Amino acid sequence: MSVASQIEFYRSEVGAERLVAVSKTKPVSVIEEAYEAGQRIFGENRALELEEKHAKLPKDIEWHMIGHLQTNKVKYIAPFVSLIHAVDSPRLLKEIQKQAAKNDRVIPCLLQLHIAQESAKYGFDEEELIHFLKNEFSAEAFPNVEIHGLMGMATFTDNEDQVRAEFKSLADTFSKIKSENLLSDTFSELSMGMSGDYKIAIEEGSTMVRIGSAIFGSRS
Ligand SMILES: *Cc1c(COP(=O)(O)O)cnc(C)c1O
Repeated sequence: MSVASQIEFYRSEVGAERLVAVSKTKPVSVIEEAYEAGQRIFGENRALELEEKHAKLPKDIEWHMIGHLQTNKVKYIAPFVSLIHAVDSPRLLKEIQKQAAKNDRVIPCLLQLHIAQESAKYGFDEEELIHFLKNEFSAEAFPNVEIHGLMGMATFTDNEDQVRAEFKSLADTFSKIKSENLLSDTFSELSMGMSGDYKIAIEEGSTMVRIGSAIFGSRS
């Protein structure tokens, strides 16, 4: 299967506007193939790799930072990044605010919720997140960031019921934040689902799926 045909398949399978093609570890030439096939949204999980690829590739690509982001790396991507998916602490959001202001930009962000059973995955728990939004976050305090939604990663397991329950809990938190009007109208995205679980994620309300290996092949 060529990258072009996989891109074509997944753009129609999940909806082109919903597909984040996860190109981490893949060379620029492979991203060019996907670009030629019409893909414009790419996800990377390392700030320096993202910066390097941004410099080499067409400027109409929307680059999404999808992985855990260290505060000291925000400065490398702040000038151009289109969406930061995995904001997992108030401290990181404050640094994004600072770097966005320096670049005279507003950076769209998603807050990462910890939904998996694995303790290694990053993110707020629900209570922490609601507390942060009610007590610390305000559009005035963070004029250079815009919270566009939530992101989460399910447990890596074959147990579909568990994966579904985890996505459901993320969707429930999303609805709760929306119905309590804790954020503005820009709060509309739910980033969940990867190669192995995107179908379940879409059934549970995902608006953005992050698909890597199913498009580009496995990573070494
Ligand atoms: C690597 C990665 C993906 C894509 O995973 P695949 O299983 O290859 O589709 C999605 N989200 C995040 C945060 C990732 O780091």
